[in-house]
Amino acid sequence: MSGRFALAALAALIAGSCAAGSAASAPDAQEARDAQSLPPELAALVAQPQTGSFNPEASKDAEFFKDTPERFRPFVAVCNPWDEWDKPAPPFRIHGNTYYVGTCGIAAILIAGDEEHILLDSGTAAGAQVILANIQTLGFSTDDVSYLLHSHEHFDHIGGFSILASHTQARIVSSYSSEAVLTTGEAHRDDPQFGMHAPMEPVLVQRRVATGDSIETLSNGQIEHSVTAIETPGHSPGALSWQWQSCESDDCKMIVYADSLSPVSADDYRFSDHPEYLAAYREGLERLAYLDCDILLTPHPSHSRMLRRMRRGELIEPTACAYYAIGKNQDIERRLAAENETSDGD
Ligand SMILES: [Zn+2]
Repeated sequence: MSGRFALAALAALIAGSCAAGSAASAPDAQEARDAQSLPPELAALVAQPQTGSFNPEASKDAEFFKDTPERFRPFVAVCNPWDEWDKPAPPFRIHGNTYYVGTCGIAAILIAGDEEHILLDSGTAAGAQVILANIQTLGFSTDDVSYLLHSHEHFDHIGGFSILASHTQARIVSSYSSEAVLTTGEAHRDDPQFGMHAPMEPVLVQRRVATGDSIETLSNGQIEHSVTAIETPGHSPGALSWQWQSCESDDCKMIVYADSLSPVSADDYRFSDHPEYLAAYREGLERLAYLDCDILLTPHPSHSRMLRRMRRGELIEPTACAYYAIGKNQDIERRLAAENETSDGD
């Protein structure tokens, strides 16, 4: 395998259409609203209403919002590109039963079901408090979060796992490579960022997944949502991306939560010194490039220009995963070229 993308094949993919699958039930989140008591540390956050109190026109002018769907306006009004990781953000419905419950700067995604929910990522330890409050604000019970999944095993995305584990009944799901990171709180030796981050609170992993494995939630004993794991190592050794379908009535979209996949490292790390790691990195990008993908989401929203796409009413963009993968592949090539130049100069 060349390790490079067959760009012509990708262009064909981009020219093609992404078929929507069969419709699944789509209960209205607002109908799921039920009263419940909150942990005291969350009460203050929830007491400040995070939806309904925003006046987008007050913070950004009407022209700015002319193409922005109503449901996205509160988030676009308060958040900025590359915003602070722990800055509270109003939650919103992405499509069907898929909701954004993260902060302005770090994503967390809730796939809400009739009886149980799946949560992707926790944000930082401080961000986890915002996420718990956002789930409540949408009218869901945090008690119904039954699975907690991760993108990549760094503190900005899983640093809040221990907090979420203590406030929910969720079973934590990890990749095989990241299991030890979660259970010890220590970084993986093969992580390009090894040594850069403080340890995290250890958590118990209850399920491990590889590419193609699915996490399923049930309603009335039937599978309601199924979220499929895709191994996309590179930014970290155990990074996962996830794919699922969400429907609004019979309007079904494939959603992909694609990991960061950026070649960021400690100063003395060289990707070119790790050919096996690099090969796995490229294989993950290829998997991602060819996914059925109507809506691309990323752990750092600005990696996929989420704010801009929301504001322009372009969040549904079936070519986004392919372009994202092509862009990340170019980042790796640039990084390898820079490493090569450095070694030439030695
Ligand atoms: Zn990150």
